[in-house]
Amino acid sequence: MRRLPIYFLIDVSESMVGEPIQQVEEGLAAIIQALKADPYALETVWVSIVVFAGQPKTLVPLQEIVNFYPPRFPIGSGTSLSKGLGHLMFELRNNIIKTTYEQKGDWKPLVFLFTDGVPTDDATAAIDEWNRNWRKSANLVAISFGNEADSVLLGKLTEEVHMFKNTSPKAYKDFFRWVSDSIKTSSISVEHNSSGFELAKTNDDTVSKIDLTKQTENRKLIDDNFVVLAAKCQNTNRPYLMKYAKNLDEGDIGGMKLYTKSYKLAGAFPVDQSYYDLGDGNVENRVHSDELIGAPSCPCCGNAYGLAVCACQKIHCIGHELESTCPWCGTKGKYGVGGSGFDINRAQG
Ligand SMILES: [Zn+2]
Ligand SMILES: [Zn+2]
Repeated sequence: MRRLPIYFLIDVSESMVGEPIQQVEEGLAAIIQALKADPYALETVWVSIVVFAGQPKTLVPLQEIVNFYPPRFPIGSGTSLSKGLGHLMFELRNNIIKTTYEQKGDWKPLVFLFTDGVPTDDATAAIDEWNRNWRKSANLVAISFGNEADSVLLGKLTEEVHMFKNTSPKAYKDFFRWVSDSIKTSSISVEHNSSGFELAKTNDDTVSKIDLTKQTENRKLIDDNFVVLAAKCQNTNRPYLMKYAKNLDEGDIGGMKLYTKSYKLAGAFPVDQSYYDLGDGNVENRVHSDELIGAPSCPCCGNAYGLAVCACQKIHCIGHELESTCPWCGTKGKYGVGGSGFDINRAQG
């Protein structure tokens, strides 16, 4: 039986922390469940999951549906599309069975790329390599979560660039049903369709194909839709992330419209130690505390303040103890409330 390899290449950068990554985790589990119940898919579909933040990782190596158990997703710092793509191509090179005189190889692999932001590094070389070596021998569907991904850049990889309006749990459900339906229709159509794949019909409210002729270049190496601050819990030593979402306030001075940008607290989330393995080690970007609205408590130990900044510039939690110990550098000290604003280290998204 010829295999239809399905690869998920998933952005697990910090802006995905919280609801998006939880929904992706549940969505992938729902896809696997749906495919297990489909006789065509069960026979032909093999699935692999590759994630990327500042670093890439194979979360699940290519395997049959029957043996597939949905994984937990990690979060890392940065969005290196170039390393993600590079790792995907490495997996494809090593796992795809080519057709030879002796054997019928795999059907064209189908790749679903999910991303919610702008790459934090230059992906040109990886995109060129994709177009040279894989564009003809694989099908890639790029999906922007929300409208913040760089669709022009994604358009250099594939004509199939779709936007997913990830506004509610129901939208996620519809979206992942569309993905599993597309895998099912593809597993049937490989036998008699030259392109080798066929996306399911979409409900335009949830998923829509982006018209690439109408997009403009959007190049920047920091994702500014979210500010995500990386911190460490003083009591448990566990890393956690505080996520702030961009907020534009419209003002009016003498008939002139003014916009002030600020970031509103969206939540604080504990992450695993793998956060450091997937990161790019870069926390140089700064945001001024005046732009941040809301301060969370520590999601790991419940300490009242999640956003204390040590002299080493790293962030940790504090409670009502008289003396705090920075879990990053070990410095002991007392904290007062700062009068003017302060700069805090910001992760890249
Ligand atoms: Zn804590
Ligand atoms: Zn410190």
